[in-house]
Amino acid sequence: MTSKPSADFLLVGASELVTCAGNAPAVGAEQSRVAVIENGAIAARDGMIVWVGKEKNIDAEVDVAAEATRLDVGFRAVLPGLVDTHTHMVWAGDRGDEFDRRLEGATYSEILAAGGGILRTVDATRQATFEALLSAAGARLERMSRWGTTSVEVKSGYGLEPASEYKMLETVLELGKRHPQELVPTFLGAHTLPREARGSQRARERYVDLVCEEMIPTVAKRHLARFVDVFIDEHAFGLAEARRVLESGRRAGLGLKIHADQLSSDGGAELAGELGAVSADHLEHLSPEGMSALAQSGTVAVMLPGATLFLRSHAYANGRALIEAGVPVAVATDVNPGSCPSESMPLMMQLACLYCGLSVDEAIVAGTANAAAASGLEDRCGSLEPGKRCDLLVLDAPERRQLIYKLGSPQIHMVVARGLVLS
Ligand SMILES: [Zn+2]
Repeated sequence: MTSKPSADFLLVGASELVTCAGNAPAVGAEQSRVAVIENGAIAARDGMIVWVGKEKNIDAEVDVAAEATRLDVGFRAVLPGLVDTHTHMVWAGDRGDEFDRRLEGATYSEILAAGGGILRTVDATRQATFEALLSAAGARLERMSRWGTTSVEVKSGYGLEPASEYKMLETVLELGKRHPQELVPTFLGAHTLPREARGSQRARERYVDLVCEEMIPTVAKRHLARFVDVFIDEHAFGLAEARRVLESGRRAGLGLKIHADQLSSDGGAELAGELGAVSADHLEHLSPEGMSALAQSGTVAVMLPGATLFLRSHAYANGRALIEAGVPVAVATDVNPGSCPSESMPLMMQLACLYCGLSVDEAIVAGTANAAAASGLEDRCGSLEPGKRCDLLVLDAPERRQLIYKLGSPQIHMVVARGLVLS
């Protein structure tokens, strides 16, 4: 006789328990594999799921402690907590005033020339204390959680010099200690060139040297990040520089991510495929060669439709073509002060359906199981299965479609991270 798992947390009353169970990332036809259990229940212990099944089987299959937390969600849909696999959520300062200027027609270059843009965020982030960064990012994390996000990948990249880059990554690590949400730090020293490296080719080369020879080895040695990322773009880094950054990261034992093909076909997806990156992100201008490179390597394509919307570029990543080519697709906010201030994962999943060609169920997998895989978290979250963290969201509706249908304002009844109800 097998012994029943014991539980200190029990959730019942799920009209639809959307588990997204199975291998991640899900590819092709599997992209819509939401694996629903009707009238479902979940049992957990110490924040980890120990049992998932039909509510009527609880007594026979689970040993629920007398003092266990018991939640009856009252015939509502329950989904895995959302995984935001591409964010820049640690920064200081505010750039809300640039929004008016952009609406009046100012270009990116004009805003930069007037002292705005990313370098303004770099100045504010360099000057901010660790505590100030922690408080700003903590407030963002709480708001993101209200939209159902329970795991977040967070990039550095507003320091652009060693001490400030490490300060950003330490902020992410400290946030992870203080909150039940799962945080994954990524080193993005190659986000853009700092002001002091913009004067000459030699200064530029020195900055790439600093990233590859000093910052990456230090970040790896001090376990400050799990991934290294690089921004390939005419305003940022070229393909050869990106290759150097990623190869340095790989030598140091970090996983690889790339900002690729956002404003033009820049060869980023091909490089992601060649180097076996865990994800290639943006892909608004993905080439056919890039698409097949991603399909061959199994790299997850992370779409960031909020940036396309906010920049009014009208170029959305073609999620439909990616899925049909056999590339696993995820979606994320890209939350940052310049190109996408939205903290809402449901909004991004809605845009993925409206503009990138995904179905409701494909978008749900893109924001959960496949996003977990793009963050290196597929063994820990992204689905409701025994052995995973008890991270979930309860919709204030009996069926999952409402998460995507209610544009801009899905009603979320409750969010749970590591078995704790977030208020
Ligand atoms: Zn980004």
